[in-house]
Amino acid sequence: MTCKICVQARKSNAFTQGNSNLGTSTLSRHAVSSDHQAAFVGKSMESSFTKAIESSLKVKEKGVKVALKSIYWLAKEGISTHKYSSLLSFLEILDCPNVQELHCGANVTYRTDVIANELQDSIAQVIRENIDKEAEQSSCISILADESTDISVTQMLVVSTRLISLTDFKPVTHFLTNVHVLDSKAATVTD
Ligand SMILES: [Zn+2]
Repeated sequence: MTCKICVQARKSNAFTQGNSNLGTSTLSRHAVSSDHQAAFVGKSMESSFTKAIESSLKVKEKGVKVALKSIYWLAKEGISTHKYSSLLSFLEILDCPNVQELHCGANVTYRTDVIANELQDSIAQVIRENIDKEAEQSSCISILADESTDISVTQMLVVSTRLISLTDFKPVTHFLTNVHVLDSKAATVTD
């Protein structure tokens, strides 16, 4: 018979090598031995430590979700990403849960424009990957392209795709990209 707790704690005693004496007194003596007690305390400490780390990560994860959802909401509403920090401060005033979790120390709050852009890039990457996956699996795809001029008078070609959604088998349109073009002549667009 071996003691799993002592073996895992890499102790060296009769119960780590295999003890054939299974008498109650032998087992009782081992249970109160300093080796077994130390192994037992170590194991329970290890388990509490792991649990503490896991719960702390879960809480921080909720904070990151608030940040990601805030960024996504700003984009969906067509509001400047520059307002990300202001939005989080407002949510904090409203006592929204988990916003405080983004505070790590006195100066780290994860609400700068750099963080906002990085979060936006991460969301965009996931959306693009999902569109790519849908396009790969769709039985037919069409490309829609139209020339447009933006607010800075830059001419561009707006490219979208229309494909069959795998979830409900209905046609859906996804924006793909903006391509800058020198002019809006048909030849430039088609080339
Ligand atoms: Zn033991």
